[in-house]
Amino acid sequence: MSDRRNHQPGFATRAIHHGYDPATAQGALTPPIYMTSTYAFGSTEEGAALFRGEREGYIYGRTKNPTQALLETRLADLEGAEAGLALASGMAAISATLQTLCQTGDRIVADRILYGNTFALLSKGLSRFGITTEFVDFTDTAAVAAALSTPAKLVYFETPANPNLRVIDIARISTLARAAGALTVVDNTFATPVLQRPIALGADLVVHSATKYLGGHGDLLAGAVVGPAALVAEIRGHGLRFLTGATISPLTAFLILRGLKTLELRLAQHVRSATAVAQLLQDHPAVARLYYPGLPSHPQHAVAARQMSGGGGLVAFELKGGFEAGVGFMDRVTLAHRAVSLGDAETLVQHPASMTHAAYGADERARHGIPDGLVRLSIGLETTEDILDDIVAALGGH
Ligand SMILES: *Cc1c(COP(=O)(O)O)cnc(C)c1O
Repeated sequence: MSDRRNHQPGFATRAIHHGYDPATAQGALTPPIYMTSTYAFGSTEEGAALFRGEREGYIYGRTKNPTQALLETRLADLEGAEAGLALASGMAAISATLQTLCQTGDRIVADRILYGNTFALLSKGLSRFGITTEFVDFTDTAAVAAALSTPAKLVYFETPANPNLRVIDIARISTLARAAGALTVVDNTFATPVLQRPIALGADLVVHSATKYLGGHGDLLAGAVVGPAALVAEIRGHGLRFLTGATISPLTAFLILRGLKTLELRLAQHVRSATAVAQLLQDHPAVARLYYPGLPSHPQHAVAARQMSGGGGLVAFELKGGFEAGVGFMDRVTLAHRAVSLGDAETLVQHPASMTHAAYGADERARHGIPDGLVRLSIGLETTEDILDDIVAALGGH
């Protein structure tokens, strides 16, 4: 046996144990859910010390709760960050972060391909308050460097990016941002800390939609941001406390803690099945193009192989038959559900041209790299052969 005494515990061990000692909760194996809105002070002086920030503790539930605090500690540990903050949704986390770090007159440089509502927050939300965003293709580092020659407060991107799974070089972009005096914020929802840890690659803050893989069971909405303790405290004190007020429920925090226990195990199975699906689609005559970061055919496979430890659970592919073929495929699946979202036990399928990106119009979709025949699969945890059979049958006639 190897000597592991000096080793840090592994990912799964930390996802199950980090930050909790049953001795602090009457021996309860599972951390209690603290369903409370406020906290009683032992004395006026104790309350006053809490308000002055001279004493650690709980005052009121909008900004802090013990179940939430455990989730935050655990998520920060898994991402390799100093501190974390959990919020009511992914958009709440992104919004609280950007509203805290930016003010009128500030400039953001963001990738062109973003989750739809992040794009809306930047282009239609923050712009109303004089915070401007320049959208650049982040696979073109020269274009990012050029955009950063004008002062910017922060750089924002997601990788792999929705819906065509473009991969952005986290280390390269973070280096450019740091040299320009800008913070780097990365949305790590698709990869999760199991497959990719942006902070170790140079990012300052990582945001998550915990609604997806972290929760993992399609039964909640939540979000998180992790990073340096001082920045996270500021986002809690401003972004959560009074800019958004988007507090996570203690019950939801508990459900994510439960989800985290199997995160590494689930991701391994998502990746196994997604790889099998990608291999099937790659050679299928109905498929014009496959997008899976785990296979060498992906345009940024070299970057993915460097910064991810697996291709992820999402597979996107373009059908030769265009829009009609996409709709036909969607209507013929019987095991997969037609639904947005991702990271659940159930396989989900969506057709961006008729669903999430329908409002774009065909020209705009083409410019954003979203062909009309593009289909996105979130590969679930069903038996791999059943997922494959469903896809083969829905591709039909070939
Ligand atoms: C879903 C999602 C979000 C938004 O999260 P919600 O929990 O739905 O608010 C942000 N980024 C990415 C990449 C997502 O997939």
